[in-house]
Amino acid sequence: MKVVLDHLTKRFPSRDKNGSDVIAVNDFDFEIPDGKLIGLLGPSGCGKSTTLNLICGLEAPSDGKIWFGEDDVTNLPPEHRGVGMVFQNYALYPHLTVRKNIMFPLQNLKGADKLSKEEMEARVMKAAKLVQIDKLLDRKPSEMSGGQQQRVAIARALVKTPRVLLLDEPLSNLDARLRLQTREEISRIQKETGVTTIFVTHDQEEAMSISDMIVVMKDGILQQIGKPQDVYDDPANLFVAKFLGTPPINVFEGFVENGWVMIGDEKILEVGEVEDKPVWVGIRPEGFVLDENGPLTCELERVEVMGRDTSVVARHEKLAGETIRAIIPAENKVDTSKNTVNFRVKSFKVHLFDRESEERIYFGDK
Ligand code: ADP
Ligand code: MG
Repeated sequence: MKVVLDHLTKRFPSRDKNGSDVIAVNDFDFEIPDGKLIGLLGPSGCGKSTTLNLICGLEAPSDGKIWFGEDDVTNLPPEHRGVGMVFQNYALYPHLTVRKNIMFPLQNLKGADKLSKEEMEARVMKAAKLVQIDKLLDRKPSEMSGGQQQRVAIARALVKTPRVLLLDEPLSNLDARLRLQTREEISRIQKETGVTTIFVTHDQEEAMSISDMIVVMKDGILQQIGKPQDVYDDPANLFVAKFLGTPPINVFEGFVENGWVMIGDEKILEVGEVEDKPVWVGIRPEGFVLDENGPLTCELERVEVMGRDTSVVARHEKLAGETIRAIIPAENKVDTSKNTVNFRVKSFKVHLFDRESEERIYFGDK
């Protein structure tokens, strides 16, 4: 089911008396394609949960509409939208068995939707098998691990065969190993069911790894939407560039002069037809090439061996952060007897941003 957000806005009155309204979702106007897994990504407080709550009907928009396919669902109550919702804190009923927890949404169906006991049992079994907890149906939630409890919550969201599945930071309460495993499970379940899924997280790696498409937002405003690799390779602004990637992009204070990117008096990269002006120069960690004649001279801090790659930690007076992190192949040896290290850069790993607006400045063929 395709989901269309049509100039969707949500304003909350300020929590303090004299403050201005909070615009949690500001004129969202985009389409979520049918059958895909979408990662809704942004820092805490940027409006991710509000967006989900608008889609599932727990909140009413201040402006705009929501469409599921050709249906305008803006004024439909949550139970008539056909959405399944999973929250961070599983929210299972502790006194009910897993079977009863999963069955719960089916027991409230009325009229023509009402199911027989056998039909309910069959639906529960199908959902439980999908999330691989069919052997645990007689347990209570307290007798299960966090990962298993979250699977129960997912089964409960799927049992009504929703048109849209909404997951709000579903992995946040799990430890690192379970997080990894459960996110792969979510990706598998999504592919098996083909249900349009919106997955909210503040963790860029999580969103990048399983999403068909990511939606990056900040302060209620859409920043960029696209395939994870495309957004990483081609960020629309400095915020997006900094938000995606570990280690993060290295940002230098620089300027463009006579077709060259300058960092201090170092001529870093020829960019051709770009207006002379101050810029932020973003260089991805994998964009540095060790080269003793390279134009960028950095103060060498330390070298961290990581097996396949080597991480070079360095400093530069024009860097906007503490330290530079360059990732180079392990076979390229750094001369640690010196206290400086020189790099040249890979052009497609360098992004320029306007110093004021922080919008991307394109050069070359992009
Ligand atoms: P996220 O899920 O990305 O962390 P939220 O959607 O929860 O962000 O919140 C977005 C913004 O809206 C925040 O500034 C938050 O304080 C505000 N907000 C959320 N819910 C309410 C509410 N019920 N009343 C007032 N402000 C709210
Ligand atoms: Mg939230």
